[in-house]
Amino acid sequence: MYIQRFDPWNSKLCTCPEKYSLNPYTGCGHRCLYCYATAFIKNFYSPRPKKDFLKKIKKELQKIPEGSLISLSNSSDPYQPLERVYFHTKEFLKLLVKKNYKVLIITKSDLVMRDLEVLKELRCVVSITITTKKYFKALEPGAPSYERRLSAIKTLAKSGILVTARIDPVIPFLNDEEVLEILEEVSPWIKHITTSTYKAKRDSFARLEKVFPERAKLWRELYFKKGEKIEGSWYLPENLRRELLHPLFEKAKELGISIAACREGIKEFEAKGKCDGSFLLDELKE
Ligand code: SF4
Repeated sequence: MYIQRFDPWNSKLCTCPEKYSLNPYTGCGHRCLYCYATAFIKNFYSPRPKKDFLKKIKKELQKIPEGSLISLSNSSDPYQPLERVYFHTKEFLKLLVKKNYKVLIITKSDLVMRDLEVLKELRCVVSITITTKKYFKALEPGAPSYERRLSAIKTLAKSGILVTARIDPVIPFLNDEEVLEILEEVSPWIKHITTSTYKAKRDSFARLEKVFPERAKLWRELYFKKGEKIEGSWYLPENLRRELLHPLFEKAKELGISIAACREGIKEFEAKGKCDGSFLLDELKE
């Protein structure tokens, strides 16, 4: 099945609302160093389109109850470079026009603007991941620049599309200072922020320390000596995670924007059922 119930390994830490998940592609060309999906999916950085995509999703969609939330994508980017060639995401979105589904799009690409006219026909929220101004070339080498993502946020918002930002992941001693500036910069255009600290997997950590060797020793100490392993990932010590996220929560409060953390397991940063920003679609209805 290409459209599946979103169930991140039955994680106790997940506060997402009930939703379905669809990845139009296997793997991702954005090649983010911190990507966790590389630990589960073979040849992740050699992305490929899903076979017989349109035929299969047309069939599968008939079984998804109207009113459901469908999220694209949770383990690849629906607007990664392959989408310019295969149009899988666009084809799927077109199937939803005039149907009563809620749609959550999570992307790092301004290619989403190509589909603006389709998006206007849907009950949808677009979440743009925007993590760093300084390091995106090194950290997310296949993804569009900070400026292009910011421009996408503005264009979508000005066109009446609900937009949220994923300021995620926050990596200690890398982007932890600039994330506040990013939050301020996107704040006039967005309705919600999802954030979280970087959780290390062995392979993503190896990529990070290769590209940022000067930070490797410190990160090793923080993650593997002082940190803890939770549900298969290495977490920073809780006090450091609080320190990293607290300023973002304070700033969002000051600006009147809702904010929630993803899989931190820290009560004060949780918003059960509201973490991914899709709740905005329900408020729209009321
Ligand atoms: S855009 Fe998302 S799925 Fe693609 S490489 Fe980056 S983190 Fe992984």
